[in-house]
This record gives sequence, C-alpha cells and structure tokens, in this order.
Amino acid sequence: MNKYKNISRRKSDRIYVGTVPIGNNAPISVQSMTNTRTTNSFQTIQQILELQKFGADIVRVSIPNLEAAESFKVIKKKVRVPLIADIHFDYRLALKAVKYGADCLRINPGNIGNKKRISEIIKCVKDKNIPIRIGVNAGSLEKDILKKYSIPTPEALVESAMRHIEYFDALNFNQFKVSVKASNVFLAVEAYRMLGKKVTQPLHIGITEAGSLRNGTVKSSIGIALLLLEGIGDTLRISLAADPVEEVKIGYDILQVLGIRSRGVNFIACPTCSRQEFDVIKTVNQLEQKLEDVSTPIDVSIIGCIVNGIGEAKIATLGLTGGCKKSAIYEDGVRQKNKLNNEKIIEQMEIKIREKIKKINE
Ligand code: SF4
Repeated sequence: MNKYKNISRRKSDRIYVGTVPIGNNAPISVQSMTNTRTTNSFQTIQQILELQKFGADIVRVSIPNLEAAESFKVIKKKVRVPLIADIHFDYRLALKAVKYGADCLRINPGNIGNKKRISEIIKCVKDKNIPIRIGVNAGSLEKDILKKYSIPTPEALVESAMRHIEYFDALNFNQFKVSVKASNVFLAVEAYRMLGKKVTQPLHIGITEAGSLRNGTVKSSIGIALLLLEGIGDTLRISLAADPVEEVKIGYDILQVLGIRSRGVNFIACPTCSRQEFDVIKTVNQLEQKLEDVSTPIDVSIIGCIVNGIGEAKIATLGLTGGCKKSAIYEDGVRQKNKLNNEKIIEQMEIKIREKIKKINE
C-alpha cells in the first residue's frame, strides 16, 4: 500500500476484542468512545450506531456507576460493534460489565484496590475469555510515581504501566493491551517507544486530551504517525474535544496517508487559484459529505485546471480536470469521451464515483 516506505511492525501478541483481532500483524483497528451519558441508553445506542456506520472497529463506553452498568446491559444488546467497558475504582462495576457482555475492560489495576479484587476481575474475564486494557495516562499517574519523577516523564508512564502489568503477571494473565498516553506528543511517543521494548502485549496508541478538532487532529496525526512509522501501535484512538465520529474519520485518514489501511474516498484536490475552471473547494467539500457512506477505498482527484489536473487524474482511480465550461474525466488513468458539465459537476461526479465503486465491488 505504501510504495515509498516499508513499515516493519513491532512484534506483538494477539488478543481479540470481540471478533476484532489486535496485535501480531492484525490490521490496525480504529476505536472511539461515546460521550453521551451512558445512563441514557437511547442516545448512547444512537451514537454507537453512528460510529459503527463510519467504520469504528471498537467502541468504548464509560461506566461510572451502577446505573450506567445497567444501561450498558441494554446498550450491548442493540449494537454489533465490540464494546469496551471503561471502569475506574469500583471492581463491582467491572464484574457487572463482564456479566452484561463487555468485549473488553479498560481498567488500571492500581486503582481497583486490593489484590483480592483484582484477582476477582481476572477470574471473571478469564471465564468469559475477554481481554483488558491497561490505560496509563500522564494526567492520572500514581502519587508516588509523580513524586519520584516530579513531572510526568516517559519513564514515569512506563513505570506506572509496568506496575499494573506486574499485577497481571502475578495472576498469570496475559490477555491485555497497554496504553501510555499523554497530551504532549513527544512525551507519549517516547513512552510508547520505551514500553514497546519492554513488553510483547499489543499497544493501544493515541495522544490523550489532544484538544479541539483542528489542534487535536494535528497533534494526533504527528504523534500517531511517528509511532506507526516505527511499527509501534496495534490499535488507535484519536482523542478530540469533538464529535467522536470525527475521531473515527481522522483515524482512518491517518492510516490511509501512511498507506497502512484504507477506507472510503481519498480526495486529491488542488488549493485553487484564478486558473480554476470550476469551484474546486465547493465541489470537494460537498462530495466528501455526500460520499461519507462509502467504505470502499478509492482515490479521486478534483483539480481545477490542466496545469496539474491531467497528471493527477492519470494516477487516481477517477480524476477530474477542469476545462472551459466542461471538465475532463479520467477513469483508471484513461481520458473518457464524455466530459462533465461544470454547472452540474457535483451531481455528475457523485454519480461517476458511485458507478465506479459499484464496478470495483462487482
Ligand atoms: Fe490553480 Fe490549476 Fe494549480 Fe489548481 S491545478 S491550483 S487551478 S494552477
């Protein structure tokens, strides 16, 4: 997929979250998390279905109390995508979530309390054959670790992760993945590099609390790309203060750009200038919206004039090159006889793209 960079992936063990494989060369899965009140099962189900529609492989749901656990039971029955129950502090919530069908737990053994409670959780997940994610976060490091290092450092994050991992080792449990997230890109990247050398479990990567849609996308893209290019990372989540659907779309965009995994339409479009023969910006934005339902990978170039239009069209699956009144269309690099009318370019191009997708899937 990536002709220019050969990524050699870090060797990791395989776990399964529901039917989704993670680690040991499995496709890098894209996750997100609901931000509705879990107690509002209707809204949460709607959001999960939306995330499912945009290709989320796995969805995480937080379970802060018993009422949320009861709601999780209802939610789980209504959705197809595997669900991770996110639990802190109260081990009884973890036991409930497993009973109600969670496909994975996200817990930090260190904040569950005594070892008896942790071993109860492990016994329960072993019975159901489901994994756990240890999710270390620079914002919630243990007090003694923070005291030792003064500030969150890569070493501090890794020490926290190793402490949690030791709990599991002592109980002979290895069905888990680990994350060491921070909102600082280089702190997170360095922590993942260090952890990746110490353990064989799959790594869930991401830049936590990355920020708004724009700023958070940039931070996440840089951090995640640095790691993926080094072969580190088996599943990812983009953490944005935004609609979680955006997290899924951006997750796929990052994988697509790196040539790791493709989904949907990859638009190539020029920034436009006074040479453009049709409104490129409007066209590409409207097409992107109209074609959000497409999951088949396809490269489409939308270029305003012949300066770069022909070159791009020749290497895209479908290419549009602006011309006076009518624009040329290329399919698999070959110029087609019929041109598109610039006045109706969006509607006509949508039809062309859908027809091509149908052909690809035949
Ligand atoms: Fe301008 Fe043509 Fe370049 Fe687009 S491809 S930016 S319209 S010169």
